[in-house]
Amino acid sequence: MKFSGKNVLITGASRGIGADTARVLAKMGLKVWINYRSKPEVADALKSEIEEAGGVAAVVKFDATDEDEFIKGINLIVDSDGELSYLVNNAGITNDKLALRMKTDEFTGVINANLTSAFIGSREALKVMSKKRFGAVVNIASIVGEMGNAGQVNYAASKGGMIAMTKSFAKEAASRNVRFNVVTPGFIATDMTDALSDEVKAAYEANIPLKRLGKGEEVANAVAFLLSDHASYVTGDVLKVNGGLYM
Ligand code: NAP
Repeated sequence: MKFSGKNVLITGASRGIGADTARVLAKMGLKVWINYRSKPEVADALKSEIEEAGGVAAVVKFDATDEDEFIKGINLIVDSDGELSYLVNNAGITNDKLALRMKTDEFTGVINANLTSAFIGSREALKVMSKKRFGAVVNIASIVGEMGNAGQVNYAASKGGMIAMTKSFAKEAASRNVRFNVVTPGFIATDMTDALSDEVKAAYEANIPLKRLGKGEEVANAVAFLLSDHASYVTGDVLKVNGGLYM
């Protein structure tokens, strides 16, 4: 995969899909900025792993829901490297409950963590990328944002909103040669899906045409394509990585 840019910030990259995205993009030659919010030892271990494999990595701490911290994190990267070429808004949470039992702050908490954080990152990245007239952003939404899911009205709204927001950013940013795309993973084996019971996982697998959960690396490969020069004419797109569960 060919990249004209040199560095990438991945939010929530110390574990799960974010960590796999860091591994894949570092292998493809980008300097990866691993964002973490709570466990420096895990982020440092990933940085060492990437460096031992011959890649270039750095860590940057911030809570993606904290606007000031996020902006400071991006400034630190730009001060260090002179640019931010690519951003992956990956940080996300769930807080599942049937809608009838969901408190309003349990709804807005997930919107804030998943959607508002991606808005802040997208806006700040666009400011930086516009100056160079180059850049690309990939937002990690979810199949749940496309098809809905019982017990996840908050999460579905955040991810559906992310899809619409990404298309709108794509329209605003195209004249500046900055591309925005979104990846919608299906059920991927990470800590997030580990929380599901074996019964629920088996039921999902039975419905997935490829008959298995996906791997973080398989999402990362889709992210890499959308950031790369191979996707230079792709913006505002939604790339499904879901084993055929939603077509
Ligand atoms: P995960 O294993 O639970 O990891 C989530 C990561 O996000 C962690 O590193 C976490 O950091 C970080 N994070 C959460 N809130 C943050 C914040 N405010 N600031 C900075 N970092 C934050 O989740 P995952 O499965 O890898 O999911 C990654 C993304 O893919 C999420 O947006 C998720 O919604 C999406 N997705 C996942 C699946 C799936 O099946 N796994 C499917 C569709 C979409 P801490 O370690 O500090 O908690």
